[in-house]
Amino acid sequence: MLLEVRDLHVEFRTRDGIAKAVNGVSYGVDEGETLAVLGESGSGKSVTAQAVMGILDMPPGRITGGEILFQGRDLLAMKEEERRRIRGAGMAMIFQDALSALNPVMSVGDQLGEMFVVHRGMSRKDARVRAVELMDRVRIPGAGQRVRDYPHQFSGGMRQRIMIAMALSLEPDLIIADEPTTALDVTVQAQVMDLLAELQREFHMGLILITHDLGVVADVADRIAVMYAGRIVESAPVHDIYKAPAHPYTRGLLDSIPRLDQKGHELYAIKGLPPNLMDIPPGCAFHPRCPMAQDVCRTEVPPLYEVSGVSEASGVSGASQERGSACHFWRECLRG
Ligand code: SF4
Repeated sequence: MLLEVRDLHVEFRTRDGIAKAVNGVSYGVDEGETLAVLGESGSGKSVTAQAVMGILDMPPGRITGGEILFQGRDLLAMKEEERRRIRGAGMAMIFQDALSALNPVMSVGDQLGEMFVVHRGMSRKDARVRAVELMDRVRIPGAGQRVRDYPHQFSGGMRQRIMIAMALSLEPDLIIADEPTTALDVTVQAQVMDLLAELQREFHMGLILITHDLGVVADVADRIAVMYAGRIVESAPVHDIYKAPAHPYTRGLLDSIPRLDQKGHELYAIKGLPPNLMDIPPGCAFHPRCPMAQDVCRTEVPPLYEVSGVSEASGVSGASQERGSACHFWRECLRG
């Protein structure tokens, strides 16, 4: 396994109390695999990714438990210098807002070239050549001329391509893309997602795609991990989730995707708000919003049940490899 997160716990100390942002998250991603991590804001998906990258603000953040293994080595036990080496060459991150992630007073060519100068010891001239190649690879038209331009001279979609080029520059084994298309309009979103998927296949990298939008992951992800209140509530191969979700929250997210064949119908929205992480509801954290909640849900925290042997009821083939749901009533949910 390229990356394995095991029982990770992260909290933030605030003036008002302790926010439990990540509460026992475990997931893994292999080389050449795409894992989509899905959830509303505050679900813990980005905080988990920041802990993996080693860019969590500490304090106020604190990792209170768990392990993060990258190529079999525990990142949390490493010195900062070693982690810095892994960032860039071993793993890289693509952020949502390229404009604030890029340096506004440096040309994109210099920013891309800097990676090769600092990490590979290249001359500025050679680094510039590599920068143009990378810009070409992410299909920026006229890369040879545009290499001298500054970030504000590019459109949102082109800036996101530059972010992708930067992340790819040192050919990392793992890329974490945190809401990489949220700030873009729908057509550009699709182009950027296609490019990311194509490069991931070409470089055979592991990709963790963090998103709140189940609509963008269907064609690119191999697996989906759905997070709620700092926990994974459903984890499954992508097609199983679309065919028959085994958690009411996942079902709600799927029902919220606008569909062309349902014109005139009111768009479904999950009722209520995500929980306050300083005061997570007892039992199943989703129970105040769940249409299937029963008494047991208010008192007993559901473990991540193994979902298996449900092929006839759900239409999901076989014993759904490595599928889990943190719902006491996952069988009923599967049946729809
Ligand atoms: Fe809903 Fe209960 Fe399942 Fe939680 S455990 S998702 S409240 S049915």
